Amino acid sequence: MKPNIKELSFQEFTAFLAKRKQPSFRAKQIRQWLFQKRATSFAEMTNLSRGLREELEERFSIGRLRIVRFAESQDGTIKFLFGLADGASIESVLIPEARRLTLCISTQVGCGFGCAFCATALLGLKRNLTASEIVDQILEASRTVSAERRITHVVLMGMGEPLANYAQTTEALEIITDGEWGIGISPRRVTLSTVGLVPQIEKLMAETRVNLAISLHAANERLRGELMPVNRKYPLKQLLDCCRSLPLPRRKRITFEYVLLGNVNDSEQDAQDLVKLLKGIPSKVNVIPFNPHPGSRYFRPEDDRITRFQNVLHDAGVQVNVRRPRGDDIQAACGQLQGEEFARTRHETKSTAGDF
Ligand code: SAH
Repeated sequence: MKPNIKELSFQEFTAFLAKRKQPSFRAKQIRQWLFQKRATSFAEMTNLSRGLREELEERFSIGRLRIVRFAESQDGTIKFLFGLADGASIESVLIPEARRLTLCISTQVGCGFGCAFCATALLGLKRNLTASEIVDQILEASRTVSAERRITHVVLMGMGEPLANYAQTTEALEIITDGEWGIGISPRRVTLSTVGLVPQIEKLMAETRVNLAISLHAANERLRGELMPVNRKYPLKQLLDCCRSLPLPRRKRITFEYVLLGNVNDSEQDAQDLVKLLKGIPSKVNVIPFNPHPGSRYFRPEDDRITRFQNVLHDAGVQVNVRRPRGDDIQAACGQLQGEEFARTRHETKSTAGDF
């Protein structure tokens, strides 16, 4: 197997080219072919000399993800199951809305954080994705949408914990957001969601300009500890102190995600505690009514209970948004991504709604 050229770091790239007496702008040109023009062969790279194209062809491959499965929901949401070179698989979800097209991408195969309500947690952590596997989800998904539609937003909210794969994730973020040679999506349109790894949050906010979303899910230490084992390492108090001290640019807010679990964290008291907790933090709250999946013991609260929770926040002046489930019928909604499990169960039971 020839090494995948997209796995080369910038230094490796420029060293390779310098050895061949190529001018330094070649690295940028090649990256433009790979990430902007989404080239799948070196032969397409017509502004390079034939000699260089041949040498690249000899030495490298241009890695791709295989689309193993593709399911479209009644609401237009599309779920991809991508096969990786080593046989592992991951999922991405494309969410069309009136004026935006958002892709939700994965950063790990499985996840090691064991949140009690999450389907990906059931897999455990298999491995980290490389930067190019993270980026390739965008390149492959883009190929399936019509030329006049572009992916406008990216959320790192698929399988895995992005900040537990910090180096590869931030390298991917650079490729995604660079306007000169990268995919060129503005960092204002990219959101990274984390379970709350405090040191990595601080690092991320110092090193990038992407939006931050934090999975909170409970307003007290005891309950958060039950739902999210990570709370033992980084308790709520430490997490919120960190949020208070982040150097946020003016008008920028931190998004707090709160999965609403029936009779667990959905009372008016919980909402009031949440209001208190977020005092002094420029924040908005994304309430995500629980999306059921096979193997979970939680349930989604009734609509009027969701509304009551929302109203407490709203009346206290908190900016709150209740996330509508998207792609629920194809198990593509938040927290339903299971990779191989998805392939296996869908295969056995045949899809009820998706058309494979
Ligand atoms: N590891 C990161 C990103 C992946 S999950 C994180 O935890 O933030 C993206 C969001 O979906 C998280 O807020 C997660 O808690 C939430 N989620 C997980 N399972 C869910 C489910 N079954 N229903 C609704 N939201 C869920």
